[in-house]
Amino acid sequence: MPLTYWCEQAWLPTGAAESVIVEVSGERIAAVTQGPPPPGARRLPGITVPGLANAHSHAFHRALRGATQTGRGDFWTWRDQMYEIAARLDPDSYLTLARAVYSEMAMAGITCVGEFHYLHHTPGGRPYADPNAMGHALVRAAREAGLRITLLDTCYLTGGIGTPLAGAQVRFGDGDAERWARRAEDLAAHYAGQPDVVAGAAIHSVRAVPPEQMPLVAEFAHRHAAPLHAHVSEQRAENAACVERYAATPVQVLHEHGALGPRSTAVHATHLTDADVELLGGSRTHVCMCPTTERDLADGIGPARTLFDKGAPITLGSDSHAVIDLFEEARAVELDERLASEKRGHWRAAELLTAATAAGHASLGFPDAGVLAEGAWADLVTVRLDSVRTAGATGAEAVVFAATAADVLSVVSSGRQIVADGHHISGNVGQMLAEAIGALR
Ligand SMILES: [Zn+2]
Repeated sequence: MPLTYWCEQAWLPTGAAESVIVEVSGERIAAVTQGPPPPGARRLPGITVPGLANAHSHAFHRALRGATQTGRGDFWTWRDQMYEIAARLDPDSYLTLARAVYSEMAMAGITCVGEFHYLHHTPGGRPYADPNAMGHALVRAAREAGLRITLLDTCYLTGGIGTPLAGAQVRFGDGDAERWARRAEDLAAHYAGQPDVVAGAAIHSVRAVPPEQMPLVAEFAHRHAAPLHAHVSEQRAENAACVERYAATPVQVLHEHGALGPRSTAVHATHLTDADVELLGGSRTHVCMCPTTERDLADGIGPARTLFDKGAPITLGSDSHAVIDLFEEARAVELDERLASEKRGHWRAAELLTAATAAGHASLGFPDAGVLAEGAWADLVTVRLDSVRTAGATGAEAVVFAATAADVLSVVSSGRQIVADGHHISGNVGQMLAEAIGALR
C-alpha cells in the first residue's frame, strides 16, 4: 500500500522547500509535491533530506574506537592494533558486530554502505567452506540493519610493495587476481537480481596489489558495470615506495592499468601531485574524503575543492568509524580547507550535502538514490530543527553546519521505516555494539 509522508521542510533538487508531500510506493518514491498535510499522512517535523551514503567503510574498525586514541604513533602503529581485531573475527562474530555498526549508521541517516571488504578467509588464510562466508555475513548484517550495501570485494595480495602477506594479513589474500576474480564472480552471481546489493570490486592499494594484477580487477568491474574503489595516496610513505619502485605515483599506476573512470572511486587522495589531480578530475573518478579518519590517523588534508573543480565528484566515508556522522564528515571537508588555506567559504552546504547523498550513492552503483524525486529509492532522513544544536538554523546549512547524527529523528530506507523517534527498529544499538565489541576483547 502506498505511504504518504508530509515533511515540514525538505531538501529537494531545487533547494530547501516547506510543506513537501512525498508519496512512497514499495521501495521507490512515487511523487513529490507541495501542499498541506493530506489526511493519513505521516508527519515528519524538522528537515527531511535524502538518504546518506557512507561510501567507505571497514565495519570491523568500529571495535577500535576509543581503544587506539591513546599514546603516540601514526597510521602504521594504528594499523598494528587494527590487525589484532582483524585476527579475531569469524563469520558469526562479524555478523554480530557489523549488524550493530550498520544499525549505528542507520541511526545517523545512512541508507547505503560501501563496505571495503578484505577479511575474506580464516585467520590462517584457508578459505571457509563457503569462500564468501564473511561477505555473506556483511550483506546479512546490512539487511538486518535496514541498509542497502555495495560489497566492494577487495583484492589484497601483498603486505607491501614486493613483500608477501604476513601475520593477520594472510586472511586477506586470494593468492592472485585470477583466484580473487573467481571468488568475486561467485559472489556477484549469488546476488544477481537482488536490487539492494551491488557486488563491486576494490584494489586495496598500490601496496597490496602489484600493477600487473590490477587489470583483472578492473576487468571484473567493467564486465559487471560495477563500482571499483581503491585506497590512494593516504600516506606519504606509500607514495615514496610507489615512485621508487614504479617511477609513478599511485594515481598514475591506477590510471595506466585501467582503474580510473566514472565508476571508480579514489579513497583519501590526500597527498597528490598536480598531475594526479588532473588524472582524477579528467577521468571523472569519484574521490571519497574521510576527514574524521584522516584526522584521527594524522594522515593530512586532501585537495578536495581542487579535485571537485577539475571534475572529480566528492563523496564521503566514515572509514575507520572513529566517528559515524556524515554531517561531521561533510563540514570537515570545508573546515579542514579553512585550516589549510586560512580562508573561509570553499564549499556551499548544498554541495557538501550532495557529496553525502547523490554523489555517494552514485559511486556505490546506485545512481537512482540520494535525491527526493519521483522514481528514486525511497530514502528519507529527517533531522530535528528543535534540538540545542539545530534550533534557529534552517535548510541545508542547518544540516551540514549545525546538526550531528544525534539529531536524526526518523529514517526511511528503501521505503521501510528503520528509525523512528531516534530509535532503531532492532532495539538498543548501544548495547548491541557493547556486546559485539566486548566479545572481541
Ligand atoms: Zn579504508
